[in-house]
Amino acid sequence: MAGLNLKHIYKVYPNGTKAVNDFNMEIEDKEFIVFVGPSGCGKSTTLRMIAGLEDISAGELTIGDMIVNDVEPKDRDIAMVFQNYALYPHMTVYENIAFGLRLRKMPKDEIHRRVTEAAEILGITEYLSKKPKEMSGGQRQRVSLGRAIVREPKVMLLDEPLSNLDAKLRTQMRAEIAKLHAKLNTTFIYVTHDQIEAMTMGTRIVVMKNGFVQQIDTPKNLYVYPANKFVAGFIGTPQMNFFEGTLKKKGEEVEICFDYSDAKVTVPYSMLYKVRPSFLNGDKKVYIGLRAENISLNRDEVKNSKTKIKVKVSHKEELGNQTLVYGDINMDGDGYTESSTRIIIEAGSDVELKAGDILDAALDMNKVHLFDKETEDSILPRIPEYNFVDCSVKGGLLTFLENSIQLPPAITCGDGKYELLIPSDAISFGGNIEVNVASSEVINGKILVSFEVGGRRMFAVSEGEIKKGKKKISIDLKRISFLKDGETAVSAMPDKVVMKGRLIKEKVVEEVEKDGRTKKAKVVKFFLGIGDAKFAAPDDTAKKLISAMGVKKAFTEELRYECGPYDLKFADNGISGEAVNTADYGKEKFSEVKIGGETAYIYTEEEREGAVHLVPDIDKLAVIMAEKDIRII
Ligand code: ADP
Repeated sequence: MAGLNLKHIYKVYPNGTKAVNDFNMEIEDKEFIVFVGPSGCGKSTTLRMIAGLEDISAGELTIGDMIVNDVEPKDRDIAMVFQNYALYPHMTVYENIAFGLRLRKMPKDEIHRRVTEAAEILGITEYLSKKPKEMSGGQRQRVSLGRAIVREPKVMLLDEPLSNLDAKLRTQMRAEIAKLHAKLNTTFIYVTHDQIEAMTMGTRIVVMKNGFVQQIDTPKNLYVYPANKFVAGFIGTPQMNFFEGTLKKKGEEVEICFDYSDAKVTVPYSMLYKVRPSFLNGDKKVYIGLRAENISLNRDEVKNSKTKIKVKVSHKEELGNQTLVYGDINMDGDGYTESSTRIIIEAGSDVELKAGDILDAALDMNKVHLFDKETEDSILPRIPEYNFVDCSVKGGLLTFLENSIQLPPAITCGDGKYELLIPSDAISFGGNIEVNVASSEVINGKILVSFEVGGRRMFAVSEGEIKKGKKKISIDLKRISFLKDGETAVSAMPDKVVMKGRLIKEKVVEEVEKDGRTKKAKVVKFFLGIGDAKFAAPDDTAKKLISAMGVKKAFTEELRYECGPYDLKFADNGISGEAVNTADYGKEKFSEVKIGGETAYIYTEEEREGAVHLVPDIDKLAVIMAEKDIRII
């Protein structure tokens, strides 16, 4: 039994394919995790890296409390089940299950206990003396599960174990594997391309695409709160309907217009508080996502609905207990081809209609999903990253939502009107801007506080719960930015210091103890070259860099270092830079230092000018292979 931690895991195959990019996830003991995504998205590669069947190009993998990057598969305390059962045809079921244990020279009676117990759990006791060829596909897969169970592994890895089975058996085995997980109390990681399998089995699901994790969440949250159009379309059958359209705010209402159609519906603005105002002018394109079950043809529902649209029916699919009605919201559309006006509606089995009928359909707009047409990210995220508010600046005085703040000297913003971006996590409670807290909810371990200020709704990510009612907030002004006509006019202070350099190897003479005597000897030492300075590299860091870059390139390839503005200290020696300015944000000051070609903002308590030296906090430094953009530390 063990949890796993995947930290900045990458896989680059020798031919250059970047199969997995910056995979980060903490898996708790006993979870049932499913990796899902279309073929080629990197799920098997990730699983194989966990199993140790594939080298990890960069990153750190922990199973239990041990870093296992360099641990042999057989010593990782994992068991793996594959799609093809890979049973030995000449051995009986009993021998197949016992085989691995015999190799490990386990005492005979212990082997017997484990094999009979596993057979019992899997319901194959009566087949123990049979050969695999006498069994069906489902039974064979049970034997291969048995072979994994008897190892009593800390982690069970399953790579598409049910793909070879027919649909009925797959459904049955799905339930059995879920039951097995409950019984064994072991961490399961399961790979599948089948979203239904993922949804029915996982406690949490990782949706992947093109080597990148798209979203990690519970099945229900993936369904209800997809983070982007890909996840929204991948999870759920029939696929979510996606219409192109625009949003236009009119007073306290928002009109949602469907492109290539006369369809439009109006919803209260309160439903769309999280949407960035620039999406509400009626010109920025969005995808309007609605699932088939959130659209109704039921007469009463349609009669009572304030949000209905016209649909021209093309055909239907009878599924017994329900009917999928296909149609088009463009009266000239054909309803067959997937298009931005094609609509699929889930109707009861008693629905009566025929091709060509034009009907009203009621949309449950409480369930609507909206995505930016350009980035395909949700514009109604559960936790909005930014608040966007209109503001004006005059003589250094910032006015927004009936509040005025004197801008600190570091923010030089010309007079005029702007869109102000305030990160939700740059707002803290306590300060001097009065707000009215409306709600506070826990979302994926974070607390999202929703409050009113100057008639607008805003959001903050808070450390603790905040009670309803009048409160005061403050804003971290170094993190705000100003936009004019969609372009950044004044940016936030960069929160990252970027430096360049290389790994350095040197032989140094050191006193070493040998046979009880102290002798001078040459020893190899590794250093992180950063700018023109070098710092002793922790052994582990040097090892990881060499293993990721290969011995040949380890000392020639360029490295990029990143850290925060508080992670570098001014010193007498160290990385040379030139302080060119001091950014005064009121409570804090940051020295603007040129290092190489880059400008870094570094926390300082005094104004500095001219040549300076800096020493980084090595523990806080991210080390990245610059060319391939792979984070090693
Ligand atoms: P999935 O399991 O999601 O179908 P994989 O993890 O098998 O995807 O593959 C991810 C990507 O890596 C794909 O583009 C695939 O072609 C590539 N790939 C897989 N194995 C190798 C390999 N041994 N050498 C080079 N590329 C590979």
